[in-house]
Amino acid sequence: MATKLVAVLLPLLCFDGVLSGVAFNSVPANINSDFYNDFRQLLKLSASLHSKNENQKRNYIVDSQQPTPSASAELIPQEVENWPETDLNLGQVSGVSVNIHQQPVIFHRADRVWDASTFDYNNNYKHRNLGPISSHTVLTLDPQTGRILKEWGKNLFYMPHGLTIDHHNNMWITDVARHQAFKFRADMNEPELIFGQNFEPGDDNDHLCKPTSVAVASTGEIFIADGYCNSRILKFTALGHHMRTIPSGNECLSLSVPHHTALIESLDRICVADRENKRVVCPSAELRDNKRSSTQPLTIQTPDMGRVFGIAAVGEIIYAVNGPSFTFDMQLPVQGFIISAENETVIGDWGPFEKFQNPHAIAASPNTSSLYIVEIGPNKVWKFKLVHGKQ
Ligand code: ZN
Repeated sequence: MATKLVAVLLPLLCFDGVLSGVAFNSVPANINSDFYNDFRQLLKLSASLHSKNENQKRNYIVDSQQPTPSASAELIPQEVENWPETDLNLGQVSGVSVNIHQQPVIFHRADRVWDASTFDYNNNYKHRNLGPISSHTVLTLDPQTGRILKEWGKNLFYMPHGLTIDHHNNMWITDVARHQAFKFRADMNEPELIFGQNFEPGDDNDHLCKPTSVAVASTGEIFIADGYCNSRILKFTALGHHMRTIPSGNECLSLSVPHHTALIESLDRICVADRENKRVVCPSAELRDNKRSSTQPLTIQTPDMGRVFGIAAVGEIIYAVNGPSFTFDMQLPVQGFIISAENETVIGDWGPFEKFQNPHAIAASPNTSSLYIVEIGPNKVWKFKLVHGKQ
């Protein structure tokens, strides 16, 4: 009976939409909002003491009503209002990245929608007969105005998800319907590399199942977050040969819907938005030394973090966004977090708290001047400047 219940609930939980009214945890009778607020205050105090001990100029402030960035960190996101200047007429916007020209590039689903009818219980895409999306799905925007500079990607994709642009301006895309990840060279319509089998979900090294995103190291190694069904990260050589599966063997790590990835090469870590575990976790990327490392994953988790949908690394700082989440009986604020991966701490949160609804992905510009966030419902793209010091 329990197995049947899980089988029925899982497909409902695993698409990109809002989880209205679904509480994951049973509610102990003695847990209420007062308890939770006390817990937050203790956490704040603990972080403050830690900060003093470390002689760091960082504050951890938990205040969901605060309309402006509430942390003192190296770079703080500041909303660029009235951007984009025009209505982009977007479908569900699932992916965002920034190219080497500092232009944001977004990946959207046009008239296609991922909902409870999209996949069967075996993760097969049910609407293949519709054909690929006939509109352009990849839009390059002007960083100043938000206007569309270039459109691409029609008649290729069925259910867009992740978009990553690497150091050489190659575009990496995941399509959850096709169960594949693709590498496109700039201005090429044919993929140079394809991972996974077309419309075939699977869990061996040649198959993917609803892959979510890709990260690429400056040395060329490829990390694919796979994804909604397999909850693993696959590492490949630059030519696409499988190197490693994370977690594997005796690694002390369990992922649940790895939804987004960000490499911090200076720490040799591949950070993961471990969505349904409500945390960010950073196992070793093993870029420097491919012998199996005994290094434990870095783990960043706070009671108000919720389901982490997107992460972007700026230096060794991670900017994360969560989505609608419940802890005990409380709905958590939808917001951004500033994270020190190395110290395994949240060092700040940021908004606009009242405006975010369903953030799905986040990206930083290579020159670290800007952050972009895309949302599904409303279908929207946000721009933030990254500014120094406390606002
Ligand atoms: Zn998603």
